[in-house]
Amino acid sequence: MAVDSSLSSPLGPPACEKDAKALRFIEEMTRNADTVQENLLAEILRRNAETEYLRRFKLGGATDRDTFKSKLPIITYEDLQPEIQRIADGDRSPILSAHPISEFLTSSGTSAGERKLMPTIQEELDRRQLLYSLLMPVMNLYVPGLDKGKGLYFLFVKSETKTPGGLPARPVLTSYYKSDKFRSRPYDPYNVYTSPNEAILCPDSFQSMYSQMLCGLLDRLSVLRVGAVFASGLLRAIRFLQLHWSRLANDIESGSLDSEITDPSIRQCMSDILKPDQKLAEFIRRECETENWEGIITRIWPNTKYLDVIVTGAMAQYIPTLEYYSGGLPMACTMYASSECYFGLNLNPMSKPSEVSYTIMPNMAYFEFIPLGGSKAVELVDVKIGKEYELVVTTYAGLCRYRVGDILRVTGFHNSAPQFHFVRRKNVLLSIDSDKTDESELQKAVENASKLLLKECGTRVAEYTSYADTSTIPGHYVLYWELLVREGERQPSHDTLARCCLEMEESLNSVYRQCRVADNSVGPLEIRVVRNGTFEELMDYAISRGASINQYKVPRCVNFTPIVELLDSRVVSAHFSPALPHWTPERRRR
Ligand code: AMP
Repeated sequence: MAVDSSLSSPLGPPACEKDAKALRFIEEMTRNADTVQENLLAEILRRNAETEYLRRFKLGGATDRDTFKSKLPIITYEDLQPEIQRIADGDRSPILSAHPISEFLTSSGTSAGERKLMPTIQEELDRRQLLYSLLMPVMNLYVPGLDKGKGLYFLFVKSETKTPGGLPARPVLTSYYKSDKFRSRPYDPYNVYTSPNEAILCPDSFQSMYSQMLCGLLDRLSVLRVGAVFASGLLRAIRFLQLHWSRLANDIESGSLDSEITDPSIRQCMSDILKPDQKLAEFIRRECETENWEGIITRIWPNTKYLDVIVTGAMAQYIPTLEYYSGGLPMACTMYASSECYFGLNLNPMSKPSEVSYTIMPNMAYFEFIPLGGSKAVELVDVKIGKEYELVVTTYAGLCRYRVGDILRVTGFHNSAPQFHFVRRKNVLLSIDSDKTDESELQKAVENASKLLLKECGTRVAEYTSYADTSTIPGHYVLYWELLVREGERQPSHDTLARCCLEMEESLNSVYRQCRVADNSVGPLEIRVVRNGTFEELMDYAISRGASINQYKVPRCVNFTPIVELLDSRVVSAHFSPALPHWTPERRRR
């Protein structure tokens, strides 16, 4: 039921009083975007004036944008590495922020093979919480009745460590789920999850997934939305159901929890939820034992109105698969965020994935935008529709003019706040889940494996390219190799090439290896050896499509279907990594 019309918002009639307040807040922030940004930067500069970092640039007490921009350089993580290391090692002096750094958020972006450590301060949790609190009020404008049921969300905590100085280092969502803000959240009829906190907070990913899936099945008719943070996570949940439906159905039939679920708090809370239900167990067996899983989400959870999952950026590769499993349900991409800072939300969450735009909220941080190909950063309100920019942030936690690495295109404005299409992340060649591999990391991995190949059988890698194969769940990296086998030389054995796969995996960054080992969200790397002359054909193909002969370079990653098909039609043998690469939660020191 819509509330009294005097509360109406330009975004639409709010569903309840609380929503009206949230929508008014969005209006206020986006109408006054420039003033909000100006005041926010001044506040950051005032409170951090005595930090070592800001003192270095001799702002002389100035808090205005012009002075700030003229005196401070735009930086990357590597520029800040010494300061971050000192904080990690236990230096508690105000280096970046006047407020104590409460923890490090470990980004999925890496530096020297390890996750970047993003400093954060306690109050940032409130800012993130504030952005979360705006999501349902916007969604309620488009999908009525979400207070009449629940959300089946697959949410996970990941392993965390402590820095040498004793600060926690963990992913931003792990930090959020473990916080009181999440664990003791007040009841909100619009935001009820089927997953109990005990299941979400269980560090064992199998037990966590198993119990979340079980709760989702038990409460299947209440489920109105199904989600995970990223598309890859939701597909992993579907894969999990494919592998384990029979055990889940047995538990439902008997009313007793599988003995592999040993976490005491899960067992305790499931004892209240799990009751024998013969009919439900039979239904699940009937639906899951068929070969055809098309539309499985709506068959099992028939009241689902939409999928809540990010399918923009690197996740767009999963749209067709999600469409298949969900029978074409809308996919809502609700927010755009990072470990550095949460950026904004999608004010039109039911739009098609290809049309999704995020409105950056001017109260989250101070934002600047470097036009692609240009150097002078412009203000949030000054970006131009149709142009692409690289995002730069200045945060309360002490990142100043920091390049996030995301490329965004302006699609329009809500009031004076611009809306952005996420174009891509800079320098990412391959990505399956949260892993991001750039060209130099891939090059290094191929070099290391080539050394092994040369040592074992005298063979060299003449050319290579790569492909993120997501046709199976989980997806995996494919390396196409053309080998230089001279006359009279032996072909490398299957065993050697399989070990080359593992050697490459060992060389890739820690996020890749964590996905492989701990999350099981990336499958074994594959080498497909192609016959001699294949890369010449690839060049001929590119030239026939207009590439210049003089400037032609072998693409180090391919995704254009005809090229992948050409490569696949020339494959002479395929080899998979025979084991898991090495990974532990501990970081390697530089
Ligand atoms: P992390 O710091 O590991 O949380 O990763 C943050 C990065 O994930 C962002 O800088 C983006 O590159 C990407 N990302 C986050 N939200 C979205 C989104 N809604 N669409 C596309 N990419 C996103």
